[in-house]
Amino acid sequence: MSWKYTYDELLERAYSQLPEVREYSERFTIPVPEIVYEGKNTVIRNYRDICRTINRDPKQVLQVMLKEIGTAGEISGDMLILQGRINTNKILDAIESYVLSYVICSECGSPDTELIRQERSLMLKCHACGAVRPIGLAKIKLRENPQLFVLMVREGREYDVIIEGTTSEGHGVAKLRNYTIIVPGVQPGEKVKVKILKVDRNTAYAEVISKK
Ligand SMILES: [Zn+2]
Repeated sequence: MSWKYTYDELLERAYSQLPEVREYSERFTIPVPEIVYEGKNTVIRNYRDICRTINRDPKQVLQVMLKEIGTAGEISGDMLILQGRINTNKILDAIESYVLSYVICSECGSPDTELIRQERSLMLKCHACGAVRPIGLAKIKLRENPQLFVLMVREGREYDVIIEGTTSEGHGVAKLRNYTIIVPGVQPGEKVKVKILKVDRNTAYAEVISKK
């Protein structure tokens, strides 16, 4: 029934159905990892930049990521050098997993948090809502509502988007965080569930799964 509403009304309706979490999550932008392969190694060229954005100690992030990926590695200047040729998706998984476990507040979705020790446990303290909680809860909540903690648009995942415009070829264009999503066969104002087929840096290509 989308013809009943103007685009602004649609947008407002869609957003009002999501908790405030969305606002935090949309302002928080993790730089797209610049991954290059050098010989037998994998290099994340903007590693320090990523750590700066999430406001975490590069050494602590490294420890967690190496365990997650299952390789050895070291920080070199602004870069992280991993042993072996590591699949891009595995690196994205590790970064996303880190952020959901060690950065994002599970209660309000804010990334404005810090790691503190309570007794002998590592806890996540949120500066936005004051919650102090065990690390990793946001990751658990992601499984219940993938749309809530979108950090990086990933191939194979499904998202609800609103078509905001069209490309010169007439494909629909939606925005999801700092990504532009190209969706053939849809019109501006339509709210659709899409599946991501391909991601090229900040542009993703998707197909429609269902229309609302
Ligand atoms: Zn919070």
